[in-house]
Amino acid sequence: MSCPLCRSNQTPKELFITKNAFTSSGKLDKNLTKNINNNGGGYCKGDNTITLVQCQDCGYVYNLTFDLKKISREYQSEGYFSRKIVSRAMSNVIKTIKDKCLKYIDKNSVCLEIAPGSGDMVNALINEVKFIYTVDPSLVSLEIENINNLKHIQGFFDCDILKSKLEYKIDFITFRHLLEHINTPLDFLQNVVNLLENNGIIYVEVPNFNELVKHNRFYEIFNDHCGYYQKNILINTLQSLGCEIVDEIFLFREQHVGLFFKKISEPQILNKLNFNFFDSNVSILFQKNITKLNEFLCNCNNIAIYGSGAHGNSIITFIDHPEKIKKCFDLDKRKQGMYLQNSSIIIQEPNIENLKDVEIIVIAAPLYEEEIINSLREKGYKGHIIATEKEVILK
Ligand SMILES: [Zn+2]
Repeated sequence: MSCPLCRSNQTPKELFITKNAFTSSGKLDKNLTKNINNNGGGYCKGDNTITLVQCQDCGYVYNLTFDLKKISREYQSEGYFSRKIVSRAMSNVIKTIKDKCLKYIDKNSVCLEIAPGSGDMVNALINEVKFIYTVDPSLVSLEIENINNLKHIQGFFDCDILKSKLEYKIDFITFRHLLEHINTPLDFLQNVVNLLENNGIIYVEVPNFNELVKHNRFYEIFNDHCGYYQKNILINTLQSLGCEIVDEIFLFREQHVGLFFKKISEPQILNKLNFNFFDSNVSILFQKNITKLNEFLCNCNNIAIYGSGAHGNSIITFIDHPEKIKKCFDLDKRKQGMYLQNSSIIIQEPNIENLKDVEIIVIAAPLYEEEIINSLREKGYKGHIIATEKEVILK
């Protein structure tokens, strides 16, 4: 297999292997997986091997054993959840991105968002621009009424098909938390650039691989992600496609990185930026954190996980005695009453009643860790908490 980002045939370097990953961590089960007492626990493992490797030419880190067919089936399954903002109010993060976008687009701009999710960027920008197209395989209802400058195109992102459906030329393209799910990123980025007018802007946002490695968040490696990006690697790639970096944002204490590129017409001199090369130390340090987590849990019999998103589904596959995990907390009402995958771990609202008898809570929601810990303490929870965002530590 050649590198999906630069097509190099050089053998990539192995960084980390995990064997029990779920096919998709974005899924929940409607019914429990029976075990002896049906009270928490269960198998809590998947049957996928993730082989994290790094290209020795362009530096791209990717899952060598990614199986597109298998995960495509999961994306169409019933228990699959899209990201959803629990509150309707515009989050600070969306506000930050919006303000930055408005430096580059105005009332005359025509925008295209690929995979708009629940439509938070569309909501933020719709009144500021001339027109917005959204593209997604699913029929999304963006919950915006009385808007006539928005068109949803149902389908996969395909440059040729799209060109035939667009009434306007595109001068801004955005895709947030999509690129890491694409197993052919070079082709995808080339198509994005082709669709964009000269001097048009791209805004791309991805998880920041350097940050997750710095804090050894092993549970961020899940099968839904085909690859992981460093800022400079994305800059090098887009530069080779005729785009220059014009701006950047770091969000959630650098866990996410957002980059703005401008498509330029004249050929440019390629000036490759340096990036980090990793080695087997990644695996050693990840393993150290996995051991630490299990040591904290070894004397507890009533464990809860906080967060039923991809991080929660991922972290349970690393826990030695999953039968001791009794429940999972999540504020998203759509998920309450469902189960983490291959388990009898029910998802509940984190209220006083549900918190009683819990000895220890593992936080598997690094974006909101501090807020979660504060809210648990405010609710009167007095048991142990294990934080995992910056280090695996007992609170
Ligand atoms: Zn490469």
